[in-house]
Amino acid sequence: MRSAEVHNYDFAFRQAAIGMALIAPDGAFLEVNPALCTLLGYTPDHFTLPDLLLPAIQELSRDIVKCGEWLQSMKRDQHRIDQHYYHPSGQRLSLDIRISLIRNEAGKPEIYFTQFENRTQMMQMETRLHYTETHLHEREDSFMQLLDGLPLSVLITNHGQIQYANPAGLRLIHADSLEAVIGMSTDVLVDAADHEILAERKQRHYNNRPIGSVRYRIRCLNGQLRHVEGFSLKITYQKKRCVIGIFKDISDQKLEEDRLMQSEKLSTAGQLAAGIAHEIRNPLTAIFGFLKLLRTSSQNNDQYFAIMESELKRIEFIVNELLVLSKPQVSHASKPMDILPLLDQVITLMNGQAALKNIEIVSAFSEPSIWIAGEANQLKQVFINLLKNAMEAMPEGGIIRIHALSRNNEAFISVQDEGCGMTAEQIQALGKPFFTTKESGTGLGFMITHNIIHNHGGNISVQSALQEGTTFTVTLPVISEPEAASS
Ligand code: ADP
Ligand code: MG
Repeated sequence: MRSAEVHNYDFAFRQAAIGMALIAPDGAFLEVNPALCTLLGYTPDHFTLPDLLLPAIQELSRDIVKCGEWLQSMKRDQHRIDQHYYHPSGQRLSLDIRISLIRNEAGKPEIYFTQFENRTQMMQMETRLHYTETHLHEREDSFMQLLDGLPLSVLITNHGQIQYANPAGLRLIHADSLEAVIGMSTDVLVDAADHEILAERKQRHYNNRPIGSVRYRIRCLNGQLRHVEGFSLKITYQKKRCVIGIFKDISDQKLEEDRLMQSEKLSTAGQLAAGIAHEIRNPLTAIFGFLKLLRTSSQNNDQYFAIMESELKRIEFIVNELLVLSKPQVSHASKPMDILPLLDQVITLMNGQAALKNIEIVSAFSEPSIWIAGEANQLKQVFINLLKNAMEAMPEGGIIRIHALSRNNEAFISVQDEGCGMTAEQIQALGKPFFTTKESGTGLGFMITHNIIHNHGGNISVQSALQEGTTFTVTLPVISEPEAASS
């Protein structure tokens, strides 16, 4: 570039974002642009009026002249130097200075065209970036170390494919190495019976909807079936949107729960026996009486036969109910059913025991039918447990009211007693295994009740006032009435 051309670039010179100056071979600043004034913290006069020339700027100019002489001696046109500069604000700047030697027609040095850039900001940013990166790596490292050492099973998946499993996870599914499970689909791992739950949760993750804990049956690589419980969260793993699942093997706990469920059922049945015996004794007394009568008389005895037949039917019904209760539970045999006849059956079953304790069970259903999906035996167990507790809370007798209604696709069934009521602490402890205030109580009934309702997608709540009574309200999702049932 020749010196005449430099002036044609006046506009660019003024507008440039980087600091620029035209400097004479003796070091005098001929022109400075606004960006340079801002960068160095002075007005143009400070550079161009010799009286105002400041030591900091003089030093800069000396270094530039030195560099210019070096350029001439080396017969080169361009060079760059790094220079520290103290801004009037006191800040120490690191300047990147590029010097271009511009010659006149005769080839003699005329101007140093000089550009100044502030490297301080860039350096600060570089340091910060470096720090952040190391920090992130460190965090990721300690995160992975944490997962590796966790006694719980951890799986990270991306679009349902396993990306990572920690050692506890590998042990749980009987995999020899991480390589054996990477890329494996969660559909293979989770038992087919739970695929619906799995798909539901994937959808929830996808829609950013809240997602609670879950229980899955999983198929281990050796074919074994295990029960796990845990939760999952969205995370970013290896720069991909992933889901991390943290699970506990609850197979042993599940066995124990099933065993407890069985034992509580047996004790329920045992206690029911008293009521049942009473129910059966009455018809049997009647039948024996009539048989005696028949033996001694030769008249037409049709009326006695009719009574005997109806009493025998009653015995048959009660015995059948008892048998249903003692049958092993078939879980996941959920069927559409009208809950109201089921409630009637439970009431019939409990009436005998209630009568013994001077208790009346009154029911009020505000609908002709309420359809839900469920497992009849388990639901009967729920209402038997609630009624038993209500009766046990009323040693002096009284009325138990059962209400059922459906609203907003939910069935509400409440069991209300006039018993002793519960304290706040008792309500708090309700549902903890073995919490009982009764001498011969097991403290398992409510836990089982709660579990069954929970498995049916429902809820149970309690309202209680001391010496006034307690109301348990069960809610269950309502389904539409099956067509076969309505015709
Ligand atoms: P259990 O009946 O064997 O004690 P549950 O799990 O059925 O065990 O009930 C736990 C406890 O909750 C009872 O011991 C009692 O203190 C309290 N409870 C449950 N239902 C009622 C009720 N209807 N009225 C008062 N207390 C109740
Ligand atoms: Mg109980």
